Amino acid sequence: MLPVIALVGRPNVGKSTLFNRLTRSRDALVADLPGLTRDRKYGEGRMDEQAYIVIDTGGITGEEIGIDRAMAQQSLMAIEEADIIFFIVDGRAGLNPADEMIADHLRRSGKHHYLVVNKTDGIDPDTAMADFYGLGIGMPIPIAASHGRGVLSLMEEVMAPYLQPLEELEAEERARNDGSIRIAVIGRPNVGKSTLVNRMLGEDRVVVFDEAGTTRDSIYIPYERDDQKYTLIDTAGVRRRKHITEVVEKFSIVKTLQAIRDANVVIMVIDAREGVTEQDLHLLGFVIDAGRAMVVALNKWDGMSAEQKDKVREQIRRRLEFAAFARMHFISALHGTAVGDLYGSVHEAYDAAMAKWSTNKLTRLLEDVVADHQPPSNNNHRIKLRYAHQGGSNPPIIVVHGNQTNALPNSYKRYLENRFIKVLKIRGTPIRFEFRTGD
Ligand code: GDP
Ligand code: GDP
Repeated sequence: MLPVIALVGRPNVGKSTLFNRLTRSRDALVADLPGLTRDRKYGEGRMDEQAYIVIDTGGITGEEIGIDRAMAQQSLMAIEEADIIFFIVDGRAGLNPADEMIADHLRRSGKHHYLVVNKTDGIDPDTAMADFYGLGIGMPIPIAASHGRGVLSLMEEVMAPYLQPLEELEAEERARNDGSIRIAVIGRPNVGKSTLVNRMLGEDRVVVFDEAGTTRDSIYIPYERDDQKYTLIDTAGVRRRKHITEVVEKFSIVKTLQAIRDANVVIMVIDAREGVTEQDLHLLGFVIDAGRAMVVALNKWDGMSAEQKDKVREQIRRRLEFAAFARMHFISALHGTAVGDLYGSVHEAYDAAMAKWSTNKLTRLLEDVVADHQPPSNNNHRIKLRYAHQGGSNPPIIVVHGNQTNALPNSYKRYLENRFIKVLKIRGTPIRFEFRTGD
């Protein structure tokens, strides 16, 4: 499980600035979902080879009376979801009554929390921090987020102990790998995830085993279908539905991000009636970043007019071009139409994601590709590509070795990648290429 860090504090103290530093904010996922306050943002960060999730919150103004109302609901939820909380205060503005309320809440939350004093650039940090000792929630840590000052030591000294070494994650991964295909069903609220999960598990030929332990709130459901073992990672919380009343409680982005990481193959459910939304695109971006194999299910395909269907198909072609590796299925989870067909694509994607190729095979393929079309010269020296080997799976990683590979033009890399994908028949998974130079 990736550790989750929440940034809380009053508005304007520099939470977003720190968020951008910690995530190098390529692709923040904004929780603009029905029932959620707009500005909770999620991003993934990386330190060395270790990843973590950061949640940014809108801010707590303290103008409301009493802690429960003062703490905006979304901040409370972020604290719930987090392992570590960075409580950010403004070193220039000094102590504020809202800070005391937040401190009080954090003390009672039982979560690991750290007091981070921001905006200490150009002022005396000791003076800036003096005010905040009185909050009684530990040593203030001075930073200047907009200058990046103190951020690295915040990561190295405070965050690092919570991050899991890559080898440990991989060992966990192996332990979990019991020959079952782990499928995560993900998507925005109300797209039909629960309906689909129930359909998949309700089929005649499916045997569902006792539920395995739950992790965070996703439920891991082992089952068997045609002698193949699967584990369904249910982000919709189907089995807990009775207790759940609100959209906000049943949908969690953290849960979704963890499920993506934990899966071999993701079934991304999109509501065909609503078309492909920004939020869908963000979720897809996360799946691709995580390198997960994927099948896209355009749900609620029942009862749509021919005209509507054409419109959706056209929109998909445009908006999902970046995810063209994934098979698209038009289904109705409600009526069960085409749900069984998902399995063919899940298997295809899984097989491609887990495929093993020998160095021999990859090197021969590389030689063919190069023979058909030589790399260009770089300053009169020919760029040589010597051999290729596989560096990993799920996603597959192909490492190409040669001379001056860093001078390879992108157009050549694309040519090479496309040929590999075609010849190796890779469908349903993103694939990564790394170019190493031996001189
Ligand atoms: P948020 O509302 O808590 O997310 O705060 P923002 O990250 O949006 O920052 C609020 C303002 O403070 C912006 O104008 C930032 O440029 C500024 N700011 C953020 N970090 C620093 C800092 O380290 N030093 C100074 N001087 N200004 C900062
Ligand atoms: P979740 O929030 O993603 O788990 O979505 P649900 O499975 O709870 O479905 C949300 C709503 O969409 C419910 O009212 C479902 O009955 C409806 N729904 C789900 N799948 C379909 C479908 O294939 N066709 C139609 N017409 N409605 C569907």
